[in-house]
Amino acid sequence: MLFILKKGADWSTLKEKISSSGASYRYLNLYGKELVVAWPDNLVETIVDPSVEMKVKPKRPFQLASNEWKSDPTIVDVKGVKIGDRKVVVAAGPCAVEDEEQLMTTAKEVKRAGASLLRGGAFKPRTSPYSFQGLGVKGLELLRRASDETGLPVVTEIMDPRHMEYFKRYADMLQIGARNAQNFDLLKEAGRSGMPVLLKRGMGNTVEEWILTAEYILSENNGSVVLCERGIRTFEKSTRFTIDIGGMVSAKLQTHLPICADPSHPAGKRELVHSLALAAVAAGADMLIVEVHPRPEKALSDSEQQLTPEQFSLLMQRIKALAEALGRTA
Ligand code: PEP
Ligand code: MN
Repeated sequence: MLFILKKGADWSTLKEKISSSGASYRYLNLYGKELVVAWPDNLVETIVDPSVEMKVKPKRPFQLASNEWKSDPTIVDVKGVKIGDRKVVVAAGPCAVEDEEQLMTTAKEVKRAGASLLRGGAFKPRTSPYSFQGLGVKGLELLRRASDETGLPVVTEIMDPRHMEYFKRYADMLQIGARNAQNFDLLKEAGRSGMPVLLKRGMGNTVEEWILTAEYILSENNGSVVLCERGIRTFEKSTRFTIDIGGMVSAKLQTHLPICADPSHPAGKRELVHSLALAAVAAGADMLIVEVHPRPEKALSDSEQQLTPEQFSLLMQRIKALAEALGRTA
């Protein structure tokens, strides 16, 4: 249950009423609104208090992410790049940062093609411990340098909450990967950092479970969350994962958060990336995150699915044309 408070109201009597009902609660200041989220619903349903402007009982288990209390779409600001507005924002860059030359070349190429954010993994979640694990902090330093040189803010994956100080220093947006999507301590720490978060959907998560992961970040007073569909595991083997366009649209219809699509990981093959990216934009994605490598065949991770800079440049032209046809820009 959400109690949206009157501006500057003294809510001490509300606090007492919730406490004496035996319910739990959290006071938050989100999107310029003071609110109290209290649970379980049945204990607080009948509470009325003069400090409350509006009481909302969302129909689904997620509360803060629901558009039942916030109908205006949230715009997430990453150093001036606005996600969730009219412009389709594209983040691009290598799967993993490999060395300075690879990253700088890619950053300059994707900037020239029209990307707004630079992506690149420094800490890589690999299925096998014998695969390239990323350059770690050195990779973050290189990302910062590439960002400073190109002006593209950086989005990069954090795997361990103990690394947060480095991400605060070197990154502009945290990425939570599919494999860590339900690492609840990491989600809370990402929330507490106050940094914008690109939150991937776990490959085995329903849309509801995915939105509940966002709820952990919002519960820490951090409203800057972008939900990212990156494909789920199904019985289908012709693609690496099954991109769930329907689920992405469903998430958009139930929340106020901006939605991103990652066409690279579900594709698994370069040839499919353009079609999946365009399908996601046609379905209303606010953002795309695309893997680009100057020499994809030599890449140390996800070699098959990374686009060459030329392929990415062509994709950007297509995205721009489609966005314009839809009354947006890119
Ligand atoms: C990535 O973006 O490089 C990545 C590992 O993505 P995911 O967590 O979606 O697999
Ligand atoms: Mn990858």
